[in-house]
Amino acid sequence: MDQKVNYKLLKNSPDFENPKPELEQYATPVDIVLEIVKKANSRGHLAGKVADLGCGTGRLAIGAAIQGADVTGFELDRKALNTAIQYSKKNNLDIKWVCGAVENIDEDFDTVIMNPPFGAQRPGADRIFLKKALGISEQIWTIHMSETRNFIEKFVDSNAGKIESRYEFDFAIPRSMPFHTEDTANQKAILYHIASLQ
Ligand code: SAH
Repeated sequence: MDQKVNYKLLKNSPDFENPKPELEQYATPVDIVLEIVKKANSRGHLAGKVADLGCGTGRLAIGAAIQGADVTGFELDRKALNTAIQYSKKNNLDIKWVCGAVENIDEDFDTVIMNPPFGAQRPGADRIFLKKALGISEQIWTIHMSETRNFIEKFVDSNAGKIESRYEFDFAIPRSMPFHTEDTANQKAILYHIASLQ
């Protein structure tokens, strides 16, 4: 497929219809998805088996797939996953989708890409995702809030991970939940590239 067609597939990829606050359902903005998959691809990390943990409506998985990755998306919420499945079928995207909790994954991958729950609604949710990612893959590309940097870095270190790079950026969160007070809230976030030493 040519680059323009590919980009359009990502640009038009679906957002959550009725995002669930308790699952922290925020779709990654398309331009950020593109940055992540380009960075991962330029290091050769989309060449093997790739997993998207908590894939939601599938944005990151779709981004990786259009760079040619063999990707599996894992998501707890059946409704969000159905949105991903429908879109990928309609557009002939070859992506595997699995409905279930990331806690239960027991398959190995070369790379994990993820925008996990930040742990704001369900404390510890970010830890569950990081721990699983470090256990099942060698390379991890993951997004977290800047304010949790100290915590994340200690957690990665004590779970046999090594932070190879970090990139700070603004993550725009549109008004999408009942408790949001602004039209758009800009959160400082960090994209980490982590190598698992396990
Ligand atoms: N990765 C998507 C969605 C990010 S929001 C994107 O970048 O656009 C985080 C997602 O993790 C939500 O879709 C939520 O339903 C899912 N999630 C939360 N806890 C989960 C768990 N334990 N197992 C699997 N998915 C989970």
